[in-house]
Amino acid sequence: MTTVIVGGGIVGVTAALYLLKKGAKVILVEKCGVACHSSGKAGGFLTDGDSGWHSGSIGRLAKRSFALHEELAKELGAEKIGFRRVKCLGLGSAEKPPGEAGIPQPAWLAKEYQRDMGNESGLAQVTPYKLMEALQEAITKQGCEIVIAKAVGVEVDGDTVKSVKLQMPGKTTSISCSAVILGMGVWAREAAAWFPESTLPQSTVGSRYTSVIWDDSDVGRDATMVFTMGDEHTEIYPRSNECYANGCPSQPELPDDPLEIQPPAEEIEKVKVESIAAVPRLKDATVIRSTACFLAGSDDNRPVVGRVPKTSNAIIACGGGCWGILNGPAMGEAAAALALGEEPPIDMGAFDPMRFDSSYVPTVAKDLPPKLMALVAQNPDLAEALRQDPERIMNILAMMQD
Ligand SMILES: Cc1cc2nc3c(=O)[nH]c(=O)nc-3n(C[C@H](O)[C@H](O)[C@H](O)COP(=O)(O)OP(=O)(O)OC[C@H]3O[C@@H](n4cnc5c(N)ncnc54)[C@H](O)[C@@H]3O)c2cc1C
Repeated sequence: MTTVIVGGGIVGVTAALYLLKKGAKVILVEKCGVACHSSGKAGGFLTDGDSGWHSGSIGRLAKRSFALHEELAKELGAEKIGFRRVKCLGLGSAEKPPGEAGIPQPAWLAKEYQRDMGNESGLAQVTPYKLMEALQEAITKQGCEIVIAKAVGVEVDGDTVKSVKLQMPGKTTSISCSAVILGMGVWAREAAAWFPESTLPQSTVGSRYTSVIWDDSDVGRDATMVFTMGDEHTEIYPRSNECYANGCPSQPELPDDPLEIQPPAEEIEKVKVESIAAVPRLKDATVIRSTACFLAGSDDNRPVVGRVPKTSNAIIACGGGCWGILNGPAMGEAAAALALGEEPPIDMGAFDPMRFDSSYVPTVAKDLPPKLMALVAQNPDLAEALRQDPERIMNILAMMQD
């Protein structure tokens, strides 16, 4: 039988890859084109789970996914996908103890950028559109069929999704499935209406960001990411063959068609001004591309990965936020395992969509007084801590109750 994946972003495409590796038959449905949205337009900054950028369950997700990125780099070719270890500098002073060397300042960077934000031991980068191209090539070679159509609903029998309804120019049709994975990114909120009995995230659209790419490859030689900390939140990610920057968050309406998401001229200008203040030589470089895309959120701004509540074979994986390229492979891997009825390689309990059901109480909280039960039910990290270290967390909760 066939697993149908809705969405050709990094979550959907890596889910396809991990399913194919286990011999499953996969059809990927994409309404526009593989990597047409954020997975093809993102920066590609990757931070390991224990690099100090993440903590708790997100840290474990990031650790698993960082390791998967390293595996993908070996499998697909590090150079081909722009994978390499990097350093990161931000606006500010080095703050290193006397005698300890900080991150060397590249000659192209304004002197105010000395704040050490990490080095090659925990940081890396990938060029997302190249990674997505290589992933698409890999899944196609392994027999994944890619169907360009918009998924508009599901046909359900009891708790089982039997088929996915598709809209194509001039016709509607459906494909049968043994399981469905919803990797729809910012458009995941549409799936809530497909499962009226269930509770799925309703608020999956974050801010739109504008990105600019220059043809400057000299900047990329130092492999140093730059956080400007400016009003437009511009971050500069030099790559080996070009220099990428993004910033200027805004909150317009999300269109249905990803191709309608275009960067306004004034936002491109703002990102350019902030980037050039940090990297003056960019003023002489040529802009080769500018794009815009939305951050994929969720009601509590955490990733959502798990079985759609009250179904036996529908899996949702969305809400990657600003770390969706980093965490995409682990989210895709977990979704693939769940679609096959297997346990994901790491505990994904903290990302279970059940948490959006206000009546849901994790088993671990069932014997607590109502107030603490509600606290644990709404806080997946607390629930997980309680599962792992019940005695200590119960003591802390008891103190809170007093
Ligand atoms: C400007 C910017 C920079 C970023 N930089 C980084 C970074 O440096 N590092 C990092 O880790 N993360 C970064 N991110 C986050 C990351 O890009 C996203 O979290 C990630 O790409 C989301 O992947 P996805 O597969 O969930 O969604 P998407 O990439 O949005 O893919 C979803 C796909 O589903 C398709 N789809 C939706 N609905 C349907 C439907 N009904 N039928 C068929 N197809 C459908 C869409 O067309 C789309 O192609 C950045 C994000 C932004 C906005």
